[in-house]
Amino acid sequence: MIAKMKMSVLIVTGLIFFLGILGTAFAIDPGFELAKSCRANLTMLNAATKKCIADGTMGFPTWDTFEHVYTMLLSTKYVPQKPTKPTPDCEYFIVFMNVNNYDWYCNLHGVESGDRSITIRYHEYSFPSKVNSKYMSIPKYKSHYDNIVRWVGYTPTLWEDVKYRYTRNPLTTIIYVIFGVLAAYFTYKNIYGP
Ligand SMILES: [Zn+2]
Repeated sequence: MIAKMKMSVLIVTGLIFFLGILGTAFAIDPGFELAKSCRANLTMLNAATKKCIADGTMGFPTWDTFEHVYTMLLSTKYVPQKPTKPTPDCEYFIVFMNVNNYDWYCNLHGVESGDRSITIRYHEYSFPSKVNSKYMSIPKYKSHYDNIVRWVGYTPTLWEDVKYRYTRNPLTTIIYVIFGVLAAYFTYKNIYGP
Protein backbone atom coordinates (compact mmCIF):
# COMPACT_ATOMS: atom_id res chain seq x y z
CA MET A 1 0.00 0.00 0.00
CA ILE A 2 2.70 2.45 1.11
CA ALA A 3 4.89 1.44 -1.84
CA LYS A 4 1.96 2.02 -4.18
CA MET A 5 1.37 5.47 -2.73
CA LYS A 6 5.04 6.33 -3.02
CA MET A 7 4.94 5.21 -6.64
CA SER A 8 1.94 7.41 -7.48
CA VAL A 9 3.53 10.41 -5.74
CA LEU A 10 6.62 9.79 -7.85
CA ILE A 11 4.56 9.60 -11.05
CA VAL A 12 2.65 12.79 -10.23
CA THR A 13 5.87 14.62 -9.39
CA GLY A 14 7.44 13.43 -12.63
CA LEU A 15 4.37 14.53 -14.57
CA ILE A 16 4.42 18.03 -13.02
CA PHE A 17 8.11 18.31 -13.82
CA PHE A 18 7.51 17.21 -17.42
CA LEU A 19 4.56 19.59 -17.89
CA GLY A 20 6.64 22.34 -16.35
CA ILE A 21 9.37 21.94 -18.94
CA LEU A 22 6.76 21.70 -21.72
CA GLY A 23 5.05 24.86 -20.43
CA THR A 24 8.29 26.86 -20.38
CA ALA A 25 9.07 25.86 -23.95
CA PHE A 26 5.79 27.25 -25.29
CA ALA A 27 5.26 30.20 -22.96
CA ILE A 28 5.26 33.68 -24.45
CA ASP A 29 6.29 36.57 -22.27
CA PRO A 30 3.76 39.43 -22.35
CA GLY A 31 6.11 41.62 -20.28
CA PHE A 32 8.71 41.32 -23.04
CA GLU A 33 6.11 42.23 -25.70
CA LEU A 34 5.11 45.36 -23.74
CA ALA A 35 8.75 46.41 -23.41
CA LYS A 36 9.25 45.84 -27.14
CA SER A 37 6.37 48.11 -28.19
CA CYS A 38 7.45 50.76 -25.68
CA ARG A 39 10.99 50.67 -27.05
CA ALA A 40 9.58 51.10 -30.58
CA ASN A 41 7.99 54.36 -29.36
CA LEU A 42 11.34 55.52 -27.99
CA THR A 43 13.06 54.69 -31.28
CA MET A 44 10.43 56.75 -33.12
CA LEU A 45 10.80 59.72 -30.74
CA ASN A 46 14.61 59.63 -30.91
CA ALA A 47 14.47 59.54 -34.72
CA ALA A 48 11.99 62.45 -34.80
CA THR A 49 14.29 64.50 -32.54
CA LYS A 50 17.30 63.69 -34.71
CA LYS A 51 15.41 64.94 -37.78
CA CYS A 52 14.31 68.09 -35.96
CA ILE A 53 17.95 68.79 -34.96
CA ALA A 54 19.11 68.15 -38.54
CA ASP A 55 16.61 70.80 -39.67
CA GLY A 56 18.28 73.34 -37.39
CA THR A 57 16.51 73.18 -34.01
CA MET A 58 19.17 73.12 -31.28
CA GLY A 59 17.33 74.48 -28.25
CA PHE A 60 15.83 71.44 -26.61
CA PRO A 61 15.10 71.61 -22.88
CA THR A 62 17.39 69.65 -20.52
CA TRP A 63 14.34 67.74 -19.40
CA ASP A 64 10.69 67.91 -20.40
CA THR A 65 7.50 65.95 -20.95
CA PHE A 66 6.48 64.58 -24.32
CA GLU A 67 3.42 66.83 -24.49
CA HIS A 68 5.54 69.96 -24.00
CA VAL A 69 8.22 69.06 -26.51
CA TYR A 70 5.56 67.94 -28.96
CA THR A 71 3.68 71.24 -28.75
CA MET A 72 6.77 73.45 -28.73
CA LEU A 73 9.15 71.73 -31.13
CA LEU A 74 8.20 68.45 -32.74
CA SER A 75 4.54 68.80 -33.80
CA THR A 76 2.93 66.61 -36.43
CA LYS A 77 5.77 67.49 -38.79
CA TYR A 78 8.13 65.17 -36.92
CA VAL A 79 5.66 63.05 -34.96
CA PRO A 80 2.68 62.41 -37.29
CA GLN A 81 1.13 60.08 -34.76
CA LYS A 82 1.53 60.39 -31.01
CA PRO A 83 2.87 57.20 -29.40
CA THR A 84 0.30 54.88 -27.84
CA LYS A 85 1.20 53.76 -24.33
CA PRO A 86 1.65 50.00 -23.94
CA THR A 87 0.83 50.31 -20.20
CA PRO A 88 -1.15 52.99 -18.28
CA ASP A 89 2.08 53.96 -16.48
CA CYS A 90 4.15 54.50 -19.64
CA GLU A 91 4.94 58.19 -20.00
CA TYR A 92 7.55 59.79 -22.19
CA PHE A 93 10.18 62.39 -21.29
CA ILE A 94 13.26 63.83 -22.93
CA VAL A 95 16.70 64.22 -21.35
CA PHE A 96 18.95 66.49 -23.35
CA MET A 97 22.59 67.37 -22.72
CA ASN A 98 23.57 68.42 -26.25
CA VAL A 99 22.74 67.53 -29.86
CA ASN A 100 24.78 64.33 -29.60
CA ASN A 101 23.66 63.28 -26.12
CA TYR A 102 19.93 63.07 -25.66
CA ASP A 103 17.35 60.39 -25.15
CA TRP A 104 13.67 59.81 -24.74
CA TYR A 105 12.75 57.63 -21.82
CA CYS A 106 9.65 55.95 -20.53
CA ASN A 107 8.67 56.26 -16.90
CA LEU A 108 8.73 52.49 -16.65
CA HIS A 109 10.83 51.04 -19.45
CA GLY A 110 13.65 53.59 -19.34
CA VAL A 111 15.75 54.59 -22.33
CA GLU A 112 16.04 52.80 -25.69
CA SER A 113 19.50 51.52 -24.85
CA GLY A 114 21.47 52.42 -21.76
CA ASP A 115 24.51 51.24 -19.86
CA ARG A 116 22.49 49.42 -17.22
CA SER A 117 19.50 47.13 -17.30
CA ILE A 118 17.29 46.74 -14.24
CA THR A 119 14.66 44.03 -14.18
CA ILE A 120 11.48 45.28 -12.56
CA ARG A 121 8.20 43.68 -11.52
CA TYR A 122 5.14 45.60 -12.72
CA HIS A 123 1.84 44.06 -11.62
CA GLU A 124 1.71 40.66 -13.35
CA TYR A 125 4.64 41.51 -15.62
CA SER A 126 8.39 41.53 -15.43
CA PHE A 127 10.71 43.32 -17.85
CA PRO A 128 14.10 44.99 -18.07
CA SER A 129 14.20 48.76 -17.71
CA LYS A 130 17.22 50.49 -19.21
CA VAL A 131 19.01 53.43 -17.64
CA ASN A 132 21.93 55.55 -18.79
CA SER A 133 24.19 56.88 -16.04
CA LYS A 134 25.47 59.76 -18.18
CA TYR A 135 22.17 61.60 -17.51
CA MET A 136 22.31 61.21 -13.72
CA SER A 137 23.40 64.84 -13.31
CA ILE A 138 19.95 65.91 -14.56
CA PRO A 139 17.84 65.88 -11.35
CA LYS A 140 14.57 64.81 -13.01
CA TYR A 141 16.36 61.89 -14.64
CA LYS A 142 17.88 60.92 -11.32
CA SER A 143 14.43 60.77 -9.71
CA HIS A 144 13.22 58.66 -12.65
CA TYR A 145 16.09 56.27 -11.89
CA ASP A 146 15.08 56.20 -8.21
CA ASN A 147 11.51 55.35 -9.22
CA ILE A 148 12.71 52.49 -11.42
CA VAL A 149 14.68 51.10 -8.49
CA ARG A 150 11.52 51.40 -6.38
CA TRP A 151 9.60 49.18 -8.85
CA VAL A 152 12.19 46.44 -8.21
CA GLY A 153 10.80 46.17 -4.72
CA TYR A 154 7.20 45.97 -5.96
CA THR A 155 5.35 43.17 -4.21
CA PRO A 156 2.70 41.75 -6.51
CA THR A 157 -0.66 40.71 -5.09
CA LEU A 158 -1.35 36.97 -4.94
CA TRP A 159 -3.59 37.24 -8.00
CA GLU A 160 -0.96 39.22 -9.97
CA ASP A 161 1.61 36.62 -9.03
CA VAL A 162 -0.65 33.79 -10.23
CA LYS A 163 -1.21 35.62 -13.55
CA TYR A 164 2.54 36.27 -13.86
CA ARG A 165 3.33 32.59 -13.34
CA TYR A 166 0.49 31.51 -15.59
CA THR A 167 1.79 33.40 -18.64
CA ARG A 168 5.22 31.90 -18.08
CA ASN A 169 4.07 28.41 -17.37
CA PRO A 170 0.32 27.79 -17.63
CA LEU A 171 0.17 24.07 -16.84
CA THR A 172 2.25 24.04 -13.68
CA THR A 173 0.49 27.17 -12.42
CA ILE A 174 -2.90 25.45 -12.80
CA ILE A 175 -1.57 22.42 -10.94
CA TYR A 176 -0.10 24.57 -8.15
CA VAL A 177 -3.36 26.50 -7.82
CA ILE A 178 -5.35 23.24 -7.61
CA PHE A 179 -2.97 21.91 -4.93
CA GLY A 180 -3.19 25.22 -3.11
CA VAL A 181 -6.97 25.24 -3.14
CA LEU A 182 -7.07 21.58 -2.00
CA ALA A 183 -4.60 22.30 0.81
CA ALA A 184 -6.64 25.32 1.90
CA TYR A 185 -9.84 23.25 1.76
CA PHE A 186 -8.42 20.44 3.95
CA THR A 187 -6.91 22.90 6.41
CA TYR A 188 -10.26 24.67 6.67
CA LYS A 189 -12.06 21.34 7.12
CA ASN A 190 -9.62 20.25 9.85
CA ILE A 191 -10.12 23.46 11.80
CA TYR A 192 -13.82 24.16 11.28
CA GLY A 193 -15.16 20.81 10.04
CA PRO A 194 -17.26 18.44 12.12
ZN1 LIG B 1 6.92 52.11 -21.25
